[in-house]
Amino acid sequence: MKILSALEAREAFLEGRLRAQDMVEAHLEEIDKHNDSVNAFIHVTRQEALDKAKALDQALEEGKDLGPLAGIVISLKDNISYKGVPMTCGSKMLENYIPPYDAEIVDKLKAADAIIIGKTNLDEFAMGSDTKTSHFGVTRNPANLDLVAGGSSGGAAASVAAHMCQLAIGTDTGGSVRQPAGLCGIVGMKPSYGSISRHGIAPMANSFDQVGVLGQNVEDVAYLLSILEGRDPKDASSTGNPSLSKEAIDQAKDLKDLKVAVPAFYLDFDLEDSVREGYQKVINFLKDHGAQVEEVDLATLPHTVECYYALINAEVTSNMSRYDGIIYGYRAEDYDNLDDFYTKTRSQGFGSEVKRRIMLGAYLTSMDEEEGYYKKAVTLRKQMIKEFEALFKDYDLLLSPTSPMSGFGVDHDLSPTEIYMSDMFTPPVNLAGLAGISVPVEALGKVVGVQFISDKFKDAQALKTAGDYERKMSHGI
Ligand code: GLN
Repeated sequence: MKILSALEAREAFLEGRLRAQDMVEAHLEEIDKHNDSVNAFIHVTRQEALDKAKALDQALEEGKDLGPLAGIVISLKDNISYKGVPMTCGSKMLENYIPPYDAEIVDKLKAADAIIIGKTNLDEFAMGSDTKTSHFGVTRNPANLDLVAGGSSGGAAASVAAHMCQLAIGTDTGGSVRQPAGLCGIVGMKPSYGSISRHGIAPMANSFDQVGVLGQNVEDVAYLLSILEGRDPKDASSTGNPSLSKEAIDQAKDLKDLKVAVPAFYLDFDLEDSVREGYQKVINFLKDHGAQVEEVDLATLPHTVECYYALINAEVTSNMSRYDGIIYGYRAEDYDNLDDFYTKTRSQGFGSEVKRRIMLGAYLTSMDEEEGYYKKAVTLRKQMIKEFEALFKDYDLLLSPTSPMSGFGVDHDLSPTEIYMSDMFTPPVNLAGLAGISVPVEALGKVVGVQFISDKFKDAQALKTAGDYERKMSHGI
Protein backbone atom coordinates (compact mmCIF):
# COMPACT_ATOMS: atom_id res chain seq x y z
CA MET A 1 0.00 0.00 0.00
CA LYS A 2 1.24 3.49 -0.83
CA ILE A 3 2.23 5.39 2.30
CA LEU A 4 -0.45 7.96 2.95
CA SER A 5 -0.36 10.93 5.26
CA ALA A 6 -3.22 11.17 7.78
CA LEU A 7 -5.13 13.70 5.70
CA GLU A 8 -4.63 11.71 2.49
CA ALA A 9 -5.84 8.55 4.21
CA ARG A 10 -8.90 10.37 5.49
CA GLU A 11 -9.71 11.69 2.03
CA ALA A 12 -9.23 8.27 0.43
CA PHE A 13 -11.52 6.74 3.03
CA LEU A 14 -14.25 9.37 2.69
CA GLU A 15 -14.20 9.10 -1.10
CA GLY A 16 -14.58 5.35 -0.89
CA ARG A 17 -11.18 4.63 -2.46
CA LEU A 18 -9.81 2.90 0.65
CA ARG A 19 -11.70 0.90 3.24
CA ALA A 20 -10.82 1.65 6.87
CA GLN A 21 -10.47 -2.08 7.41
CA ASP A 22 -7.82 -2.42 4.68
CA MET A 23 -5.96 0.53 6.10
CA VAL A 24 -5.90 -0.91 9.62
CA GLU A 25 -4.83 -4.29 8.27
CA ALA A 26 -1.97 -2.67 6.37
CA HIS A 27 -0.74 -0.96 9.55
CA LEU A 28 -1.13 -4.16 11.57
CA GLU A 29 0.97 -5.93 8.96
CA GLU A 30 3.78 -3.40 9.49
CA ILE A 31 3.47 -3.92 13.24
CA ASP A 32 3.61 -7.71 12.83
CA LYS A 33 6.66 -7.44 10.59
CA HIS A 34 8.67 -4.91 12.55
CA ASN A 35 7.50 -4.50 16.13
CA ASP A 36 9.69 -7.35 17.40
CA SER A 37 12.80 -5.51 16.25
CA VAL A 38 11.68 -1.88 16.63
CA ASN A 39 9.68 -2.29 19.87
CA ALA A 40 7.44 0.71 19.24
CA PHE A 41 4.33 -0.76 20.88
CA ILE A 42 3.85 -2.21 24.35
CA HIS A 43 0.23 -3.14 23.55
CA VAL A 44 -1.41 -3.38 20.16
CA THR A 45 -5.18 -2.91 20.35
CA ARG A 46 -5.72 -5.07 17.28
CA GLN A 47 -9.31 -6.08 17.87
CA GLU A 48 -10.49 -2.64 18.97
CA ALA A 49 -8.89 -1.09 15.87
CA LEU A 50 -10.42 -3.66 13.51
CA ASP A 51 -13.86 -3.31 15.13
CA LYS A 52 -13.72 0.47 14.83
CA ALA A 53 -12.62 0.24 11.20
CA LYS A 54 -15.49 -2.12 10.38
CA ALA A 55 -17.97 0.21 12.07
CA LEU A 56 -16.58 3.15 10.09
CA ASP A 57 -16.80 1.33 6.76
CA GLN A 58 -20.41 0.50 7.51
CA ALA A 59 -21.25 4.02 8.68
CA LEU A 60 -19.80 5.43 5.46
CA GLU A 61 -21.83 3.02 3.38
CA GLU A 62 -24.98 4.03 5.22
CA GLY A 63 -24.21 7.71 4.62
CA LYS A 64 -23.96 8.50 8.34
CA ASP A 65 -22.17 11.59 9.66
CA LEU A 66 -18.55 10.86 10.49
CA GLY A 67 -16.17 12.61 12.87
CA PRO A 68 -13.13 14.64 11.75
CA LEU A 69 -10.68 11.80 12.50
CA ALA A 70 -12.61 9.06 10.66
CA GLY A 71 -10.11 7.07 8.60
CA ILE A 72 -7.05 8.13 10.63
CA VAL A 73 -5.00 5.57 12.59
CA ILE A 74 -3.42 6.86 15.80
CA SER A 75 -1.14 5.47 18.53
CA LEU A 76 -1.13 6.57 22.19
CA LYS A 77 1.89 6.87 24.44
CA ASP A 78 1.49 4.41 27.28
CA ASN A 79 1.08 7.05 29.98
CA ILE A 80 -2.37 7.98 28.62
CA SER A 81 -5.44 6.22 30.07
CA TYR A 82 -7.39 4.20 27.53
CA LYS A 83 -10.16 2.41 29.36
CA GLY A 84 -9.73 -1.34 29.64
CA VAL A 85 -6.27 -1.41 28.01
CA PRO A 86 -3.16 -1.76 30.21
CA MET A 87 -1.30 1.48 30.96
CA THR A 88 2.21 0.67 32.11
CA CYS A 89 3.98 4.05 31.90
CA GLY A 90 6.97 1.92 30.88
CA SER A 91 7.29 0.76 34.50
CA LYS A 92 7.19 -2.52 36.37
CA MET A 93 5.24 -0.53 38.95
CA LEU A 94 2.21 -0.40 36.63
CA GLU A 95 2.85 -3.55 34.59
CA ASN A 96 -0.61 -4.91 35.40
CA TYR A 97 -2.56 -1.69 35.81
CA ILE A 98 -5.71 -1.33 33.72
CA PRO A 99 -7.26 2.14 33.79
CA PRO A 100 -10.99 2.22 34.53
CA TYR A 101 -11.61 5.40 32.53
CA ASP A 102 -10.55 7.26 29.39
CA ALA A 103 -8.32 10.32 29.43
CA GLU A 104 -10.12 13.44 28.19
CA ILE A 105 -8.12 13.30 24.94
CA VAL A 106 -9.16 9.67 24.41
CA ASP A 107 -12.79 10.76 24.82
CA LYS A 108 -12.09 13.35 22.14
CA LEU A 109 -10.44 10.84 19.83
CA LYS A 110 -13.36 8.47 20.19
CA ALA A 111 -15.91 11.23 19.59
CA ALA A 112 -13.96 12.27 16.47
CA ASP A 113 -14.02 8.65 15.14
CA ALA A 114 -10.26 8.05 15.33
CA ILE A 115 -8.95 4.50 15.08
CA ILE A 116 -6.65 3.83 18.05
CA ILE A 117 -4.15 1.11 17.22
CA GLY A 118 -2.18 0.70 20.45
CA LYS A 119 -0.03 1.99 23.27
CA THR A 120 3.57 2.96 22.60
CA ASN A 121 6.76 2.48 24.57
CA LEU A 122 8.33 5.26 26.65
CA ASP A 123 11.05 5.87 29.15
CA GLU A 124 9.81 4.91 32.61
CA PHE A 125 7.20 7.52 33.61
CA ALA A 126 8.53 9.62 30.69
CA MET A 127 11.92 10.16 32.35
CA GLY A 128 14.68 9.78 29.79
CA SER A 129 15.87 10.53 26.29
CA ASP A 130 16.34 7.09 24.70
CA THR A 131 13.61 4.70 26.04
CA LYS A 132 16.41 2.74 27.69
CA THR A 133 14.82 3.41 31.07
CA SER A 134 11.64 1.57 30.00
CA HIS A 135 10.90 -1.69 31.81
CA PHE A 136 9.89 -3.04 28.39
CA GLY A 137 13.20 -2.51 26.61
CA VAL A 138 14.59 0.05 24.23
CA THR A 139 12.74 1.32 21.12
CA ARG A 140 15.00 1.25 18.08
CA ASN A 141 15.11 3.80 15.31
CA PRO A 142 13.26 2.23 12.34
CA ALA A 143 15.71 3.87 9.91
CA ASN A 144 18.72 2.30 11.65
CA LEU A 145 18.15 -0.41 14.24
CA ASP A 146 21.54 0.22 15.86
CA LEU A 147 20.32 3.63 16.98
CA VAL A 148 17.73 4.56 19.60
CA ALA A 149 14.45 6.17 18.55
CA GLY A 150 14.95 8.82 21.24
CA GLY A 151 12.75 9.53 24.21
CA SER A 152 10.77 9.62 26.16
CA SER A 153 8.11 9.25 23.42
CA GLY A 154 10.43 6.96 21.43
CA GLY A 155 7.70 4.41 20.75
CA ALA A 156 5.41 7.16 19.46
CA ALA A 157 8.07 8.44 17.05
CA ALA A 158 8.98 4.95 15.86
CA SER A 159 5.31 4.03 15.35
CA VAL A 160 4.95 6.89 12.83
CA ALA A 161 8.41 6.51 11.25
CA ALA A 162 7.81 2.76 10.71
CA HIS A 163 4.32 3.41 9.23
CA MET A 164 2.58 1.46 11.96
CA CYS A 165 0.08 4.33 12.22
CA GLN A 166 -0.37 7.79 10.71
CA LEU A 167 -0.22 9.96 13.82
CA ALA A 168 1.02 9.46 17.37
CA ILE A 169 0.17 11.21 20.61
CA GLY A 170 2.96 11.74 23.11
CA THR A 171 3.75 13.94 26.09
CA ASP A 172 6.50 16.54 26.37
CA THR A 173 7.89 17.69 29.72
CA GLY A 174 11.32 18.73 28.49
CA GLY A 175 11.43 17.61 24.87
CA SER A 176 9.95 14.13 24.83
CA VAL A 177 7.89 14.72 21.69
CA ARG A 178 10.34 16.92 19.77
CA GLN A 179 13.57 15.02 20.48
CA PRO A 180 12.40 11.57 19.28
CA ALA A 181 10.65 13.20 16.30
CA GLY A 182 13.99 14.83 15.45
CA LEU A 183 15.96 11.58 15.81
CA CYS A 184 13.42 9.60 13.75
CA GLY A 185 13.13 12.15 10.94
CA ILE A 186 9.49 13.09 11.47
CA VAL A 187 7.56 16.14 12.70
CA GLY A 188 6.73 16.59 16.40
CA MET A 189 5.08 19.50 18.18
CA LYS A 190 4.59 20.53 21.78
CA PRO A 191 1.91 23.23 21.82
CA SER A 192 1.78 26.00 24.42
CA TYR A 193 1.36 24.91 28.04
CA GLY A 194 -2.34 24.55 28.78
CA SER A 195 -3.48 23.95 25.20
CA ILE A 196 -4.65 20.37 25.73
CA SER A 197 -6.22 18.60 28.70
CA ARG A 198 -3.96 16.32 30.74
CA HIS A 199 -6.83 14.68 32.59
CA GLY A 200 -6.14 10.93 32.60
CA ILE A 201 -2.45 11.25 31.77
CA ALA A 202 0.15 10.17 34.34
CA PRO A 203 1.94 13.35 35.44
CA MET A 204 5.71 13.64 35.49
CA ALA A 205 6.24 17.35 36.31
CA ASN A 206 2.94 19.21 36.28
CA SER A 207 4.19 22.71 35.62
CA PHE A 208 5.93 21.40 32.46
CA ASP A 209 3.85 18.51 31.08
CA GLN A 210 1.93 18.99 27.86
CA VAL A 211 0.43 16.66 25.26
CA GLY A 212 2.10 16.75 21.85
CA VAL A 213 1.61 15.17 18.45
CA LEU A 214 3.98 13.37 16.07
CA GLY A 215 3.33 12.84 12.37
CA GLN A 216 4.78 12.60 8.89
CA ASN A 217 4.17 16.25 8.08
CA VAL A 218 3.23 19.61 9.61
CA GLU A 219 -0.30 19.68 8.22
CA ASP A 220 -1.21 16.31 9.78
CA VAL A 221 0.20 17.38 13.14
CA ALA A 222 -1.66 20.71 13.06
CA TYR A 223 -4.91 18.95 12.16
CA LEU A 224 -4.83 16.60 15.14
CA LEU A 225 -3.72 19.35 17.54
CA SER A 226 -6.66 21.51 16.46
CA ILE A 227 -9.01 18.69 17.43
CA LEU A 228 -7.33 17.89 20.76
CA GLU A 229 -7.02 21.47 22.04
CA GLY A 230 -9.62 22.90 24.34
CA ARG A 231 -10.36 23.82 27.89
CA ASP A 232 -11.35 20.92 30.12
CA PRO A 233 -13.02 21.53 33.48
CA LYS A 234 -11.34 18.34 34.71
CA ASP A 235 -7.87 19.88 34.21
CA ALA A 236 -7.59 23.28 35.89
CA SER A 237 -4.36 24.05 34.01
CA SER A 238 -6.02 23.69 30.61
CA THR A 239 -7.06 26.85 28.80
CA GLY A 240 -7.54 25.68 25.22
CA ASN A 241 -5.69 27.34 22.36
CA PRO A 242 -7.44 28.96 19.38
CA SER A 243 -4.00 29.57 17.84
CA LEU A 244 -3.96 25.91 16.79
CA SER A 245 -6.89 26.37 14.39
CA LYS A 246 -6.51 26.28 10.62
CA GLU A 247 -7.80 29.87 10.38
CA ALA A 248 -5.15 31.11 12.83
CA ILE A 249 -2.41 29.30 10.91
CA ASP A 250 -3.63 30.74 7.59
CA GLN A 251 -3.53 34.22 9.11
CA ALA A 252 -0.01 33.93 10.57
CA LYS A 253 2.84 35.88 8.97
CA ASP A 254 4.46 34.91 5.68
CA LEU A 255 8.19 34.22 5.48
CA LYS A 256 9.02 37.65 4.06
CA ASP A 257 7.37 39.44 7.00
CA LEU A 258 9.09 37.44 9.74
CA LYS A 259 11.64 38.50 12.30
CA VAL A 260 13.51 35.44 13.58
CA ALA A 261 15.89 35.22 16.54
CA VAL A 262 18.90 32.87 16.58
CA PRO A 263 20.62 32.63 19.98
CA ALA A 264 24.39 33.22 19.75
CA PHE A 265 24.81 30.55 22.45
CA TYR A 266 23.25 27.95 20.13
CA LEU A 267 25.47 28.95 17.20
CA ASP A 268 28.55 28.59 19.43
CA PHE A 269 27.43 25.29 20.96
CA ASP A 270 29.36 22.08 20.30
CA LEU A 271 26.97 20.61 17.71
CA GLU A 272 27.48 17.53 15.57
CA ASP A 273 28.45 18.65 12.04
CA SER A 274 25.18 17.45 10.50
CA VAL A 275 23.16 19.35 13.13
CA ARG A 276 25.14 22.54 12.55
CA GLU A 277 24.68 22.16 8.80
CA GLY A 278 20.91 21.51 9.17
CA TYR A 279 20.50 24.50 11.48
CA GLN A 280 22.41 26.74 9.07
CA LYS A 281 20.35 25.42 6.18
CA VAL A 282 17.12 26.60 7.81
CA ILE A 283 18.66 29.96 8.71
CA ASN A 284 19.71 30.41 5.06
CA PHE A 285 16.31 29.29 3.85
CA LEU A 286 14.58 31.91 6.00
CA LYS A 287 16.95 34.66 4.83
CA ASP A 288 16.56 33.63 1.19
CA HIS A 289 12.81 34.00 1.53
CA GLY A 290 13.01 37.50 2.89
CA ALA A 291 12.84 36.91 6.64
CA GLN A 292 14.96 39.08 8.88
CA VAL A 293 17.19 36.73 10.90
CA GLU A 294 19.19 38.15 13.81
CA GLU A 295 21.57 36.80 16.42
CA VAL A 296 20.39 37.42 19.98
CA ASP A 297 21.88 37.01 23.45
CA LEU A 298 19.74 35.28 26.04
CA ALA A 299 21.63 35.13 29.33
CA THR A 300 19.58 32.32 30.87
CA LEU A 301 19.94 29.75 28.06
CA PRO A 302 23.33 28.33 29.16
CA HIS A 303 21.68 27.33 32.48
CA THR A 304 18.81 25.42 30.86
CA VAL A 305 19.78 21.91 31.92
CA GLU A 306 20.55 22.74 35.56
CA CYS A 307 17.38 24.80 35.92
CA TYR A 308 15.18 22.18 34.24
CA TYR A 309 16.47 19.18 36.21
CA ALA A 310 16.32 20.97 39.58
CA LEU A 311 12.69 21.91 39.01
CA ILE A 312 11.33 18.76 37.37
CA ASN A 313 12.92 16.45 39.91
CA ALA A 314 11.16 18.32 42.71
CA GLU A 315 7.84 17.68 40.95
CA VAL A 316 8.82 14.09 40.05
CA THR A 317 9.50 13.27 43.71
CA SER A 318 6.07 14.47 44.66
CA ASN A 319 4.31 12.76 41.74
CA MET A 320 5.99 9.41 42.28
CA SER A 321 4.88 9.31 45.92
CA ARG A 322 1.46 8.06 44.80
CA TYR A 323 3.02 4.74 43.75
CA ASP A 324 3.22 3.16 47.17
CA GLY A 325 1.79 -0.30 46.54
CA ILE A 326 -1.44 0.54 48.36
CA ILE A 327 -3.47 2.39 45.75
CA TYR A 328 -1.82 1.44 42.46
CA GLY A 329 0.25 -1.22 40.88
CA TYR A 330 3.08 -3.41 42.03
CA ARG A 331 3.25 -4.70 45.64
CA ALA A 332 6.15 -6.37 47.37
CA GLU A 333 5.20 -9.78 48.69
CA ASP A 334 7.55 -10.45 51.61
CA TYR A 335 7.78 -7.66 54.15
CA ASP A 336 8.06 -7.25 57.91
CA ASN A 337 6.06 -4.11 58.57
CA LEU A 338 4.53 -1.12 56.79
CA ASP A 339 7.84 0.71 56.41
CA ASP A 340 9.46 -2.36 54.99
CA PHE A 341 6.48 -2.81 52.64
CA TYR A 342 6.87 0.70 51.20
CA THR A 343 10.62 0.35 50.89
CA LYS A 344 10.48 -3.01 49.14
CA THR A 345 7.56 -2.08 46.87
CA ARG A 346 9.26 1.10 45.67
CA SER A 347 12.75 -0.44 45.48
CA GLN A 348 11.49 -3.34 43.38
CA GLY A 349 8.85 -1.49 41.35
CA PHE A 350 10.87 1.50 40.12
CA GLY A 351 13.87 1.40 37.81
CA SER A 352 17.14 3.16 38.58
CA GLU A 353 16.50 6.42 36.67
CA VAL A 354 13.21 7.03 38.47
CA LYS A 355 14.85 6.27 41.82
CA ARG A 356 17.72 8.64 40.99
CA ARG A 357 15.25 11.44 40.27
CA ILE A 358 13.17 10.78 43.39
CA MET A 359 16.34 11.01 45.49
CA LEU A 360 17.59 14.12 43.69
CA GLY A 361 14.23 15.86 44.00
CA ALA A 362 14.01 15.06 47.71
CA TYR A 363 17.54 16.35 48.25
CA LEU A 364 17.07 19.56 46.27
CA THR A 365 13.92 20.46 48.17
CA SER A 366 15.20 19.39 51.59
CA MET A 367 15.38 22.10 54.22
CA ASP A 368 19.17 22.41 54.08
CA GLU A 369 19.48 22.56 50.30
CA GLU A 370 16.30 24.27 49.13
CA GLU A 371 17.78 27.79 49.14
CA GLY A 372 20.85 26.76 47.20
CA TYR A 373 19.18 24.76 44.46
CA TYR A 374 15.40 24.73 44.20
CA LYS A 375 14.79 28.39 44.95
CA LYS A 376 17.63 29.45 42.65
CA ALA A 377 16.11 27.39 39.87
CA VAL A 378 12.70 28.99 40.45
CA THR A 379 14.31 32.44 40.18
CA LEU A 380 16.16 31.42 37.03
CA ARG A 381 12.94 30.15 35.48
CA LYS A 382 11.29 33.51 36.15
CA GLN A 383 14.24 35.28 34.52
CA MET A 384 14.02 33.02 31.51
CA ILE A 385 10.30 33.72 31.17
CA LYS A 386 11.02 37.47 31.30
CA GLU A 387 13.73 37.16 28.68
CA PHE A 388 11.36 35.35 26.34
CA GLU A 389 8.59 37.89 26.97
CA ALA A 390 10.97 40.67 25.95
CA LEU A 391 12.26 38.68 22.98
CA PHE A 392 8.82 37.94 21.56
CA LYS A 393 7.92 41.64 21.65
CA ASP A 394 10.48 42.07 18.87
CA TYR A 395 10.60 38.68 17.17
CA ASP A 396 8.04 36.26 15.74
CA LEU A 397 10.06 33.09 16.15
CA LEU A 398 13.14 31.63 17.74
CA LEU A 399 15.10 29.03 15.81
CA SER A 400 16.93 26.21 17.58
CA PRO A 401 18.41 22.79 16.90
CA THR A 402 16.32 20.01 18.45
CA SER A 403 19.29 17.96 19.74
CA PRO A 404 23.04 18.50 19.63
CA MET A 405 23.45 15.18 17.78
CA SER A 406 21.70 13.34 14.96
CA GLY A 407 21.34 10.13 16.98
CA PHE A 408 22.96 7.79 19.46
CA GLY A 409 23.56 4.08 19.57
CA VAL A 410 21.43 1.55 21.41
CA ASP A 411 24.64 0.40 23.15
CA HIS A 412 25.85 3.86 24.13
CA ASP A 413 27.61 4.23 27.44
CA LEU A 414 26.70 7.86 28.12
CA SER A 415 26.39 8.70 31.81
CA PRO A 416 23.09 10.10 33.14
CA THR A 417 24.69 13.55 33.26
CA GLU A 418 25.83 13.31 29.65
CA ILE A 419 22.30 12.35 28.62
CA TYR A 420 20.86 15.25 30.63
CA MET A 421 23.26 17.62 28.86
CA SER A 422 21.92 16.46 25.48
CA ASP A 423 18.61 18.03 26.54
CA MET A 424 20.03 21.53 26.09
CA PHE A 425 17.63 22.79 23.39
CA THR A 426 14.19 21.46 24.25
CA PRO A 427 13.39 22.41 27.91
CA PRO A 428 13.32 26.22 27.47
CA VAL A 429 10.04 25.75 25.60
CA ASN A 430 8.57 23.93 28.62
CA LEU A 431 10.17 26.19 31.24
CA ALA A 432 8.41 29.19 29.66
CA GLY A 433 5.24 27.45 28.42
CA LEU A 434 6.05 28.22 24.75
CA ALA A 435 5.20 26.30 21.57
CA GLY A 436 7.86 24.34 19.68
CA ILE A 437 7.77 22.20 16.57
CA SER A 438 10.65 20.05 15.34
CA VAL A 439 10.88 19.45 11.59
CA PRO A 440 13.27 17.09 9.81
CA VAL A 441 16.06 18.65 7.78
CA GLU A 442 18.47 16.76 5.52
CA ALA A 443 22.09 17.62 6.12
CA LEU A 444 25.36 15.84 5.30
CA GLY A 445 23.52 12.65 4.40
CA LYS A 446 21.61 12.55 7.69
CA VAL A 447 18.24 13.80 8.88
CA VAL A 448 18.28 16.13 11.89
CA GLY A 449 15.62 18.10 13.76
CA VAL A 450 15.32 21.89 13.77
CA GLN A 451 12.83 23.65 16.05
CA PHE A 452 10.61 26.61 15.26
CA ILE A 453 9.62 28.16 18.59
CA SER A 454 6.89 30.74 19.05
CA ASP A 455 5.54 32.72 21.98
CA LYS A 456 2.87 31.09 24.12
CA PHE A 457 -0.49 30.88 22.39
CA LYS A 458 1.12 32.02 19.15
CA ASP A 459 1.48 28.42 18.02
CA ALA A 460 0.02 29.34 14.64
CA GLN A 461 3.22 31.14 13.70
CA ALA A 462 5.48 28.16 14.43
CA LEU A 463 3.10 25.90 12.50
CA LYS A 464 2.78 28.25 9.55
CA THR A 465 6.53 28.78 9.14
CA ALA A 466 7.35 25.08 9.69
CA GLY A 467 4.72 24.26 7.04
CA ASP A 468 6.15 26.84 4.62
CA TYR A 469 9.62 25.39 5.10
CA GLU A 470 8.42 21.83 4.55
CA ARG A 471 6.39 22.68 1.43
CA LYS A 472 9.03 24.80 -0.24
CA MET A 473 11.83 22.32 0.52
CA SER A 474 9.87 19.36 -0.81
CA HIS A 475 9.20 21.30 -4.01
CA GLY A 476 12.76 22.55 -4.17
CA ILE A 477 11.65 26.20 -4.27
N1 GLN B 1 14.72 14.01 28.41
C1 GLN B 1 13.88 14.76 29.28
C2 GLN B 1 13.91 14.16 30.66
O1 GLN B 1 14.40 13.06 30.79
C3 GLN B 1 12.50 14.84 28.72
C4 GLN B 1 11.42 14.19 29.45
C5 GLN B 1 10.05 14.46 28.90
O2 GLN B 1 9.84 15.40 28.13
N2 GLN B 1 9.09 13.67 29.34
O3 GLN B 1 13.49 14.75 31.60
